[in-house]
Amino acid sequence: MKNWPLAHRILLLALAPVWIISVLLVLLVVIVGITEIDGALKARGVVITRQLAPASEYGAFSGNREVLQALTQSVMKEDDAKAVIITDANNKILAVSGKPSKISPELANAADNGKVIKGEHGSLIFGAPIYQGKSTNEAFDLFDRVPNEDSSKLKLLGHVYLELSAEASRQSKNVFVTISILIGLVGTACASVLAMRMSRDLTLPLSRLLVGVHLMEKGELGTRIEASSGGELQELEAGFNQMAEKLEASHKSMMEVNANLESLVIARTHELEMRNHDLELLSSTDRLTNLHNRLKLEKILEEEHQRSLRYGTFFSIAIVDIDKFKQVNDTFGHQTGDKVLVGIASILQNHVRSMDAVGRWGGEEFLIIFRETNIHAAVAIAEKLRCAIANHEFEQVGVKTASFGVTTYQHPDGINEMMIRADNALYYAKKSGRNRVEYKAD
Ligand code: GH3
Ligand code: MG
Ligand code: MG
Repeated sequence: MKNWPLAHRILLLALAPVWIISVLLVLLVVIVGITEIDGALKARGVVITRQLAPASEYGAFSGNREVLQALTQSVMKEDDAKAVIITDANNKILAVSGKPSKISPELANAADNGKVIKGEHGSLIFGAPIYQGKSTNEAFDLFDRVPNEDSSKLKLLGHVYLELSAEASRQSKNVFVTISILIGLVGTACASVLAMRMSRDLTLPLSRLLVGVHLMEKGELGTRIEASSGGELQELEAGFNQMAEKLEASHKSMMEVNANLESLVIARTHELEMRNHDLELLSSTDRLTNLHNRLKLEKILEEEHQRSLRYGTFFSIAIVDIDKFKQVNDTFGHQTGDKVLVGIASILQNHVRSMDAVGRWGGEEFLIIFRETNIHAAVAIAEKLRCAIANHEFEQVGVKTASFGVTTYQHPDGINEMMIRADNALYYAKKSGRNRVEYKAD
């Protein structure tokens, strides 16, 4: 029963007692009613026969049949009277009215003993003895018709028999039973309707609540239910709606906070990326010339070195040193010297290939890394760069030249060996009169 729907459980609990009580009540009423109807018929039969017996005394004593016949006819006027018989002491019929059932000696005996006998078609036969000079009312008790001691000594003159039809009584019983059952059915039907109404009143709001809870569970936070059940159930429905409203509001604000947080995180991340980029640029750029600084150049050199070791690629480098640069500073001042440095940096940057890297190695020295380039190609590019510098007219200073020391990577050399070779080549260029490109292949 626990697993039954609530509506069925309520119906069963409410209706079962009503049905049982209704059936029992109808049964009780029917039994009591039928007993009453039967009892009333029997009491009437007893009273009539007890009145008829003494009334018949004279006729029975004198043998006056006309008197007795008149008596039987007058009794026949009673309701339900089917037949009236008056007999003598030997049960010989003295007077009869109506259509009586057959009267046997046993019947007479039973009647004398005060019993009610069943006749044909369910009719009831009542009997009473006729005594001489003694009133039956006095001789017999109304309900216990056993003769007392005195009456047994009286002289029996005859018997009276009254047969009452049970038809009317049966019809009354049928009507009574039908009405009782109908009242029982109407009562049960009313109780059932009320129970169903009560069940509906309870289960409908609960079903609505259940649907609401399921929808909320699915994430439909805008769900609201009808709050119209009245009483505590309506309070429950209204409570659900308030709870749903608060939940929706807090979810909304949470989503807003999330969205704000997300955009804040995106903005901060972007800012950080920009800063990181700036920092990286700053940490790898020479402030004066905007070329790669020494740190960055060393990184590139290491990368190229590793690439050569792994894939067998080759690369070359050139150290560029400005000739007699000290004189510029000495003659035109440090700031003019800086301008020359920036100018030469710009020439170098503009004349190398996009795949090459140029940086300031330190002071008035620059380093160029020629990727995927052999010594001859590197020397050729260096020569081109040397010419570009020598052909440039620097403001205030005029023409300045530079010397180049070129070398290429030799497996299994390290970077240091390579730099030493380039330095040696540069030294040779300086020694050989400056404004020259010298190289050292091994
Ligand atoms: P060489 O032809 O033998 O290379 O002669 P040099 O005068 O160029 O060589 P030296 O090593 O004697 O002098 C280099 C000068 O470069 C000295 C230094 O004052 C100058 N110098 C180094 N860094 C800077 C700088 O950032 N700015 C300026 N203006 N001068 C610098
Ligand atoms: Mg130098
Ligand atoms: Mg120099």
